[in-house]
Amino acid sequence: MIKYPFLDLKRLTAPLAAELKEACDRVIDSGRYLHGPETASLEHEIAALCSRRHCVAVSNGLDALRLIIKGYKALGILHDGDEVIVAANTYIASLLAITDAGLTPVPVEPDIRTMNLDPAMIGQAVTSKTRAIMEVHLYGTPARHSEIARVAKLHNLLIIEDNAQAIGASEHDMPTGGMGDAAAFSFYPTKNVGALGDAGAVTTNDTALADTIRALANYGSDRRYHNIYNGYNCRMDEIQAAMLRVRLRHMGEDKINRQLAAATYERCISHKDITKPAIIDGTDQVWHQYVVRCSNRDALQKYLAENGVGTDIHYATPPHMQPCYSGMKHSPLPLTERLAAEVLSLPIAHTSKREAEEISEIINNFRL
Ligand SMILES: *Cc1c(COP(=O)(O)O)cnc(C)c1O
Repeated sequence: MIKYPFLDLKRLTAPLAAELKEACDRVIDSGRYLHGPETASLEHEIAALCSRRHCVAVSNGLDALRLIIKGYKALGILHDGDEVIVAANTYIASLLAITDAGLTPVPVEPDIRTMNLDPAMIGQAVTSKTRAIMEVHLYGTPARHSEIARVAKLHNLLIIEDNAQAIGASEHDMPTGGMGDAAAFSFYPTKNVGALGDAGAVTTNDTALADTIRALANYGSDRRYHNIYNGYNCRMDEIQAAMLRVRLRHMGEDKINRQLAAATYERCISHKDITKPAIIDGTDQVWHQYVVRCSNRDALQKYLAENGVGTDIHYATPPHMQPCYSGMKHSPLPLTERLAAEVLSLPIAHTSKREAEEISEIINNFRL
C-alpha cells in the first residue's frame, strides 16, 4: 500500500475544484474559446510575474522552446547548424526543441551540488559555432544566471531559459523567466503551475521576437489571412488560460507548502549514504522536485515502495543516451551519467510537514 503517493493530481486539484469549475463555466458561457480575454489576461499576469514586457501563451512547453528558436531563426539571429549549450542532465524536451529547429545541442555537465549547468564548464564548450545557452532551472532551482550571463556576454551568446520547472522561483530577487533573452514555460499538469491539459508560454522583453512568435504560433500570420511565415498552430485555448489563472492565484500558497516540506526533509533526513539537494544562498527555490542522491538508489527506491513511499526518477536516462540521439556527438559526461544512476525524487507536491517528517524517519531507517 502506498501511503505517501509521489504525486496525486486529484489531491492537488481538489481544493481548487470550485474555482476551476466557476472559471470553466465563465468560458463556456462567453462563446470565446480561442484568442479571448482569459488568454490576454493570463499573458499580462505572467509577464508581470517575471517583469517582462511580453508574454505569448502557447500550446505547451516544448512548443514554447521551439518557437523561441524558430522565432530567432525567422529574425535571422539563429541559423541552421548553430550550437546551443544545454545542461546534459535536463529533460529531453530541452534538446528536442534545439534539434527540431535544425540547431545542434551541446550537452554540458552540471555542477553536482546544484544539479544545474556548471558555469565553469560552459567556456570550454564554446566553439566558433556557439550562439546560445539554454539555461534550464532544473527541479525548481534557479540556474546561477549571473555567472552564466558573464560567460554569455564574453562570447556574445543568447540566453534562452527553460523555465518549465521553476515558475515563481528567483535568484537575488530576479525571477526565473525574467533573466535571459527569452524564456519558455510549461504548464503540463504535473508542473508547479499546471493546466488541466497541455499549455505553455514564452516571455521576453524583445518586441520583435514576441511579435514573430505570436505570428508563428498562429499559422505564421501577422494579421487575418496574411501569412508572413510558414507557421504552426501552437495556441493556448481559453479553457486552459482560465484554469491557469486560478492556479496562478494560488501559486504563492503552493510554493510555501513545497518549501515547508523541503525544509522538513532538510532538517529531518540524516542518513549518511543519502545526499540532500543543496539549499542555495540568495535563491528562492520552488522545489518542482526534491531530489536526493544515493549510490544504492535502486535499493532505496524499492525499500521506500515497500514502506509506503512513492518516488520517481528524474531522469534515469539522460538525453544523450536516448535511442533518438544515438548519433549525437558529445564530450564525455561522467557526472551526468552518475547523477542518472543516483537521483531519486521524493514526494513534495502535496506533502505536509507531518508527512515529510514520517517519510524522513522511514528514510533514516534504510539499511542495505
Ligand atoms: C516539462 C518540461 C518541458 C516540456 O514541457 P511540455 O509542456 O511537457 O511540452 C521542457 N523542459 C523541461 C525542463 C520540462 O520539465
